Amino acid sequence: MTKRLVSPAVTRDVVNRHGFHFKKSLGQNFLIDGNILDKIVTAAELDQQNGALEIGPGIGTLTQELCESARQVVAVEKDNRLLPVLTETLAPYSNVHVHHADVLETDLHELFATWFADMEVSVVANLPYYVTTPIVMKLLEERLPLRHIVVMVQREVAERMAAKPGGKDYGTLSIAVQYYTEPELVCRVPESSFMPAPNVESTVIKLKVRKAPAVQVADEKLFFALVKASFAQRRKTLLNNLQNNLQPKRDKESILAALERAEIEPSRRGETLSLAEYARLADQLLNS
Ligand code: SAM
Repeated sequence: MTKRLVSPAVTRDVVNRHGFHFKKSLGQNFLIDGNILDKIVTAAELDQQNGALEIGPGIGTLTQELCESARQVVAVEKDNRLLPVLTETLAPYSNVHVHHADVLETDLHELFATWFADMEVSVVANLPYYVTTPIVMKLLEERLPLRHIVVMVQREVAERMAAKPGGKDYGTLSIAVQYYTEPELVCRVPESSFMPAPNVESTVIKLKVRKAPAVQVADEKLFFALVKASFAQRRKTLLNNLQNNLQPKRDKESILAALERAEIEPSRRGETLSLAEYARLADQLLNS
């Protein structure tokens, strides 16, 4: 490989030479810790048959490692000031395409059809924290041919993604992520692993994308509407939340009937239900 960008000295040199100034509003905290970089790349299980999508390549620190391991790399970067930097740092690689765009406004199906035809793809990224959840939800809901999503996120967000029923971290994000994937925490990352250091701790999380959702439901929209309503006010009971927040609205009798058929106590709180219980209740609501 050409010189690794990951060290503090090399990163500082690249940034200074290009007169680049970090923008907090774009979540620009660049990775400068080679051990963490190695853990991310190992977790992604890349090979020469498959592709890697990176969101937010920055100066190309992770990108260059992806280029070494994957058949094709696509890196989506919003900040046009980084494009000349990436042209320089990724010059040795012919298997990378830098796509200048906001990932949230990108047609990923089209991008995949152009660059990843016949490949399975791992998303590997040190995500900009101000848009972590919308990015992860977009990746999951668009049902792209993904194998793994290995991302650096804020520690609390990773804990919510992997949370099991019963605790304060378990909520709509846990259920959505676990519906589509099997989450696994890879490692915790201190503030000092970045330039500039963020003021939050980070975690690398690996989401293994399931071939089929974790639970089967007759109406997926209703399933997610049920989950959303159940967590609308965490301290309230399931019955109360469903009566007040389920869209479209249902009367109390039909909610109680569905709860009874699903064998779920109306006095329970949303945070105690497993995915299987939510699936059972969604299917019963369909019939009431
Ligand atoms: N991958 C680099 C690294 O690990 O050092 C940089 C990671 S930095 C945390 C996040 C990157 O995402 C920045 O390069 C930033 O400009 C980019 N970014 C921010 N918002 C974005 C968006 N909506 N779409 C695409 N890239 C974005």
